[in-house]
Amino acid sequence: MIPLDEARAFVLSGSVCGPTVSLALPDALGAVLAEAVVAGEAVPPFANTAMDGFAVRGADTIGADTQHPVELRVVGTVRAGMSGTDTLVGAGEAARIMTGAPMPPGADAVVMVEATAADDSSGTVAVRAEVAPGRHVRPVGDDIEVGDVVAPAGTVLTAGHLGLLATVGVTELSVVRRPVVGVLSTGDELVEGGRPLSPGQIRDSNRLALRSLLGVSGFEVVDLGLVADDESAIEAALRDGVARCDALVTSGGVSMGDFDFVKVVLDRIGAMRWMQVAIRPAKPLAFGTVARPDGTLVPVFGLPGNPVSSLVSFELFCRPALRQMAGRTGVDRFRPAVSAVVDEALSRQPDQKVHFARVLVHHRHDDGRYHARSAGPQGSHQLTAMAGAQGLAELPDGPSLDVGSTVTVHLLDSALGF
Ligand code: AMP
Ligand code: MG
Repeated sequence: MIPLDEARAFVLSGSVCGPTVSLALPDALGAVLAEAVVAGEAVPPFANTAMDGFAVRGADTIGADTQHPVELRVVGTVRAGMSGTDTLVGAGEAARIMTGAPMPPGADAVVMVEATAADDSSGTVAVRAEVAPGRHVRPVGDDIEVGDVVAPAGTVLTAGHLGLLATVGVTELSVVRRPVVGVLSTGDELVEGGRPLSPGQIRDSNRLALRSLLGVSGFEVVDLGLVADDESAIEAALRDGVARCDALVTSGGVSMGDFDFVKVVLDRIGAMRWMQVAIRPAKPLAFGTVARPDGTLVPVFGLPGNPVSSLVSFELFCRPALRQMAGRTGVDRFRPAVSAVVDEALSRQPDQKVHFARVLVHHRHDDGRYHARSAGPQGSHQLTAMAGAQGLAELPDGPSLDVGSTVTVHLLDSALGF
């Protein structure tokens, strides 16, 4: 058996960052910027008002308060979307103005509408507050100046970034290409969909679960189907996948059984390493590459077939490696980990393996800490607990973890209500 860290380092070393592509801004959520974006426009592009009210000269309002209002002549109205340049505010004058509208020439401050009383019959407004020049005015470039780096290379684009980039008029971006990932199930015992089961058969659950995990993790998924334990069928499916995808994820057929043809075929057409990782579940793992005719190396993840094992293996190996291919670096490749208080004993025996227990996690306000307890039965074929799990608790080799002890928990999407 090899340690988890060694297996993971091996997998990461074979999963290189993908090429740069150009993407339309609306399609770039979650992508990683390959080049910095520099603002070609200032934001805001013109000085404008942050309030509805009256644009004035600050000097005209000196001494104004509710007891001693200042009366100004209203010379026009400036609405958002107008250029505002034809409304000139002179001494003793004011212009009605709406939030987002440009400051009219001559005015240098805005009195909010609540501090005014307009008299339409006389065309005047009583100003009941003193405003210093600049008050409620958003100057040109207050947020972004021309030449500012709006987002550096390596930025993982959030909804906020898309808004920010739209603000400066960006429509196309250079990003790291999102890997296209093929998913393949293998096994004579597997049945697709809701068809009746014959004796000895089970339903294929891994492919749908893996496809969904890939999709929610931001990768493009190609369903390569369900293939019987047949050497030539497996070879055809793998070659098809290598031609169409940037990475392949297979489940089943990688252990020591007599009909584990995935192993046989991958050994023949690829450069694979077959690992026994010192973890439970998900001990067997195959990783390597298969070359396309043009020489491109396509990473292949051979995950174990047991439903829980395949998903845990995906979390520990595939997801970080694929995120690295998508341009993520450092800890951003991994699930966030927290330290949690064990609320119910997490049982295990010493066996030289690190165990990953499927747990429920919550943050408690009274002690400010995360708390964890088992999500259900922990067999590697028992998908129920995995389905409800909010985290994977990392139990180091040794005895059970007692109530009150501390455990590292890797938070899954469901911990964030996803
Ligand atoms: P294998 O790695 O092919 O020896 O499979 C290990 C266990 O996982 C066996 O009990 C298989 O029936 C089961 N298994 C393999 N592939 C799948 C799948 N796609 N969906 C559900 N169970 C599977
Ligand atoms: Mg099998």
